[in-house]
Amino acid sequence: MLQVENLNAFYGQSHILHGISLEVPDCGRTTVLGRNGAGKTTLLKSIANSGPRVDGKVAIGNAPTGRTAWFKRAKHGLALVPEDRRIFTHISVEENIELGRFGASADRPMVKLDQIYEWFPMLGPLRARLGGQLSGGQQQMLAVARAVASRPRLLLLDEPTEGLAPVIVEELAAIVAKICNELDITLLLVEQNIWFSRQTTDHVYVLDTGTVAFSGSWQQFDADESVRNRHLAIA
Ligand code: ATP
Repeated sequence: MLQVENLNAFYGQSHILHGISLEVPDCGRTTVLGRNGAGKTTLLKSIANSGPRVDGKVAIGNAPTGRTAWFKRAKHGLALVPEDRRIFTHISVEENIELGRFGASADRPMVKLDQIYEWFPMLGPLRARLGGQLSGGQQQMLAVARAVASRPRLLLLDEPTEGLAPVIVEELAAIVAKICNELDITLLLVEQNIWFSRQTTDHVYVLDTGTVAFSGSWQQFDADESVRNRHLAIA
């Protein structure tokens, strides 16, 4: 579903990603771990073509995305929830979701609003509230709801648990796992919260200074103490 080959990314003169190759199979669920500054966000932005200058190959499904603008990538079935959520603060919760729904590609019809409120029961009572009036946890739920409303094939989530209370993290993990199953979504997740990653994904990549330091299952990750020590500094 997602194929990245020999990807290099640059901010100005700074060379951030160095020849990254990775694959996420159809309906695969993959986490990218790494220390601060390892290049995780840059990787997601490079796949979405929403920031750094890139060279190398990014293909979603059978379609090489080339230099397609990020908003056109929605038509290839891609949705990105960025670290800062990018909620539209001066329109309502429901209007934020509607904007996501209109990103749907012709062959994957938009998700019905009722379905969104069933997956995200906390958003129903807030539907008329302005995006800017939500708590951090509510905004994160809304950001994910808006992204899945386009029925994406490939969902990129950048640190969705950052700043969330543990009870909201648990709720979000259950919702993300359920929606990915129901919509057959391929998931690429960047996280610091390994508990959340384990709940929602089955494959792990570790990035270190813009290169892939590890790729394997959670079982292989657990067995590889040196990866955790050298590249993540967790025991
Ligand atoms: P974190 O966990 O802290 O979010 P990360 O693994 O996501 O880290 P990136 O945000 O991708 O790392 O950053 C990788 C490198 O690129 C860092 O050295 C960072 O300073 C640099 N960088 C990120 N964004 C920019 C930018 N807009 N312009 C210049 N350099 C940048």
